Amino acid sequence: MHISIDRDVCIGAGQCALTAPDVFTQDDDGFSELLPGRADGAESPLVREAGRACPVGAITVTDG
Ligand code: SF4
Repeated sequence: MHISIDRDVCIGAGQCALTAPDVFTQDDDGFSELLPGRADGAESPLVREAGRACPVGAITVTDG
């Protein structure tokens, strides 16, 4: 699993960090970022839910 966040699209709504707090956090400006070491192998079932929760579709989750 690979997770990417399009920070040009992110509006800092924080839904990802609320949904999967073990994978996503927010930086000082409120924009989403991955917790260290979570860009791949983050086999949390909540990751895909977080992707769906993002109101602007900034999160892409791919397999492999
Ligand atoms: S849910 Fe989407 S818009 Fe909100 S902080 Fe996360 S990536 Fe950004």
